[in-house]
Amino acid sequence: MIYKKFNNKYIVRLNVGEDIVESVKKFAQEENIRFGTVTGIGAINKAKIGLFNTETKEYQSTILEEDMEIVSLAGNITEMNGEPYIHLHIALANSEHNVKAGHLNMAVISATGEIIIEAIDGYVDREFDDDIGLNLLKF
Ligand code: FE
Repeated sequence: MIYKKFNNKYIVRLNVGEDIVESVKKFAQEENIRFGTVTGIGAINKAKIGLFNTETKEYQSTILEEDMEIVSLAGNITEMNGEPYIHLHIALANSEHNVKAGHLNMAVISATGEIIIEAIDGYVDREFDDDIGLNLLKF
């Protein structure tokens, strides 16, 4: 991971073998970003994506292992228990140009990752909500 800052925005390059979710968390720790937005594109060859099942309150996850283009990476950086909390969603295209998408748990860079992160001055905490079964934004 290499990055450069312009005002409150960062351009981040992720390298082969790096996991997007882990890297964004490490980045937020290094730069002390408590609140921000994440967007990106790039190429990966392994991902774990999920869908939150509102009945069981559990994620139904799928592991994808093939060459894929990141059509869209979107999400945010907040905080939970004093640590960066990375919430990302992703849309991925395969060699047939079919798209699979979902909540992102892990994505391994196969060529490069081009991520833009906007740091917002402030912070937002999270708290587990029993009714929903998710760590919701806390105000
Ligand atoms: Fe999600």
